[in-house]
Amino acid sequence: ADLFRPERANSMGFDLHDRDDLARVEAARMPFRATQWQAAPVIAGDAAGDEVETIRNPANPVDVVGQVTLASEADVQTALAAATPWDADADSRAQVLNRVADLYEENFGEIFAVVAREAGKTPADALAELREAVDFLRYYAARGQEVQNGPRGVFTCISPWNFPLAIFTGQIAAALAAGNAVLAKPAEATMLTAHVAVGLMHRAGVPASALQLLPGLGSTVGAALTGDARVNGVCFTGSTATAQRINAVMAEHVAPHAPLIAETGGLNAMIVDSTALPEQAVRDIIASAFQSAGQRCSALRCLYLQEDVAKPFLDMLFGAMDELRLGDPWQHDTDVGPVIDARAQADFAAYIDAAKAEGRLMKRIDAPARGHFIGPAAVRVKGIADLEREIFGPVLHIATFKAHQIDAVVDAINASGYGLTFGLHTRIDGRVEQITSRITVGNAYVNRNQIGAIVGSQPFGGEGMSGTGPKAGGPNYVRRFASEDLPGHAF
Ligand code: GLU
Repeated sequence: ADLFRPERANSMGFDLHDRDDLARVEAARMPFRATQWQAAPVIAGDAAGDEVETIRNPANPVDVVGQVTLASEADVQTALAAATPWDADADSRAQVLNRVADLYEENFGEIFAVVAREAGKTPADALAELREAVDFLRYYAARGQEVQNGPRGVFTCISPWNFPLAIFTGQIAAALAAGNAVLAKPAEATMLTAHVAVGLMHRAGVPASALQLLPGLGSTVGAALTGDARVNGVCFTGSTATAQRINAVMAEHVAPHAPLIAETGGLNAMIVDSTALPEQAVRDIIASAFQSAGQRCSALRCLYLQEDVAKPFLDMLFGAMDELRLGDPWQHDTDVGPVIDARAQADFAAYIDAAKAEGRLMKRIDAPARGHFIGPAAVRVKGIADLEREIFGPVLHIATFKAHQIDAVVDAINASGYGLTFGLHTRIDGRVEQITSRITVGNAYVNRNQIGAIVGSQPFGGEGMSGTGPKAGGPNYVRRFASEDLPGHAF
């Protein structure tokens, strides 16, 4: 019975292949098909506001998803002055966070709708968002009850648009579970989802002064929230370059030893050797490289394929790419939705065109004419060293290797400096040990895809340029949000 203790259970979610579940999803999200959400700073004081921004559906830019009033400089100051660590014991905080999880599950229709229309999430992606967010809430609530130390004080949480609900919620839940006050700065592209989430958190009983939402630009609101001496820690998920800038700002302005908990980019590789089961490897490559339109930091960017099997394997892989359905992420039969905005679309189009001009484009799928779509593409490279930066979209790079080069391939992957996820497909047991013992990544997956880490059982986070640790969804995460001096414990 112990196995089923509530805090160890992950969210059940829905079965999107089940007729009854599908009907429930349809009925619950339909009322939000044309909603225009309105968001604004949510602070413990009067908000002055600044410009208003209109948010459009990346799959269909004539669909206006809502308006956001950005936080003004005065709003940031009001919020900083009002921020107060959560004045409740760990058990009461956990109760409220569990109530937030329940409210998320009850309001899944609105959540599915807003993440589809604002972030281009397919139903499968929306479900993953909901489940992960709920898991983070319940898991961190339980970990917060185990933490001996008090809160650090005020945490700034800066989250990305690729998981507008799950990562946004995870950061906040961890900081709150440890008793901190949170100043949340959501990604510019997904401020409506953030506003819906904060509404549910407050409704569940998180105090207004313990959680404030400051929608706005990274260059203004984000900078103000990371460079203020009243901030005792920053939690950030996004690019490596931005994390480095935040670190520099914190070093100069923020209280000494205030931690930066950063989860950043990846240049993730997969090795498929000649013993791999092709059907399984193809399925896992398609998911790893193209699910969520490749917009996951865990996504596969560079496939290393053993030369002996390359020809038939690539025929099968490219045939599978032909089957992918691109289109409106609201529809249940869509496999790949849009990229996040016009700029990302233009960047990828230019990137793929350049590869084509160099004769390296191996495969490209046509994209719908309307909306910010990029057809999944495959580009030939000699190795991971040819990738100069993280490519955050549906472009898979493919290199081949000869049997005797496999150790050199591992060295090349390690030399990228990133270390987030890695995939291996092989049916030789000894090779699993040979490779996974040497690869320097946070999350290595064998004979499966390399995305979608599950809270509690697959703590997620990288090494090197990929992040600071501790891993999200793991036993040590919440601890980092608590003060380091153990009460009654002499050092
Ligand atoms: N945790 C997610 C996964 O395992 C990725 C998170 C991210 O993209 O930032 O796929």
